[in-house]
Amino acid sequence: MSDYDAIVIGAGMGGLTAGALLAKRGRKVLDCATPLDFERRLLLPEGAIYALQQDLPAQAMFRPSAKSKSIRGLYLTGSSTHPGGGVPSVIGSGVIAAKLIEQNEG
Ligand SMILES: Cc1cc2nc3c(=O)[nH]c(=O)nc-3n(C[C@H](O)[C@H](O)[C@H](O)COP(=O)(O)OP(=O)(O)OC[C@H]3O[C@@H](n4cnc5c(N)ncnc54)[C@H](O)[C@@H]3O)c2cc1C
Repeated sequence: MSDYDAIVIGAGMGGLTAGALLAKRGRKVLDCATPLDFERRLLLPEGAIYALQQDLPAQAMFRPSAKSKSIRGLYLTGSSTHPGGGVPSVIGSGVIAAKLIEQNEG
């Protein structure tokens, strides 16, 4: 009937714990998550996996920069900032922020 030994639906900590333990013991587990789960678990508004919209007019240099324009000493990293969402870009945004902090804050 199913390719999985267990299907975890809309899990909170309890369901995730059960799923992780079963998977660790060799069971095939499907974590069935929706954007609502991403919003609840990861605090991503409306469950958007790249946070801010990531189409052409909102990418790369069009994204908010790491250095706040309005609050002195505030630096931003992560998927809503330049260069964008996704693990490689987010690591890049951390590198950019660290460089800017060293340059501007001494
Ligand atoms: C289901 C899913 C699949 C993905 N798949 C891929 C993929 O295959 N490849 C890829 O490159 N990228 C993927 N991504 C995107 C990638 O995971 C993100 O772009 C990246 O992790 C974002 O890093 P971040 O540092 O901006 O935020 P996160 O790594 O999300 O860290 C933000 C942290 O801030 C915390 N937080 C949020 N709001 C507050 C608050 N108000 N107060 C205190 N803490 C707060 C959150 O709990 C979280 O721990 C995926 C994302 C999701 C959700």
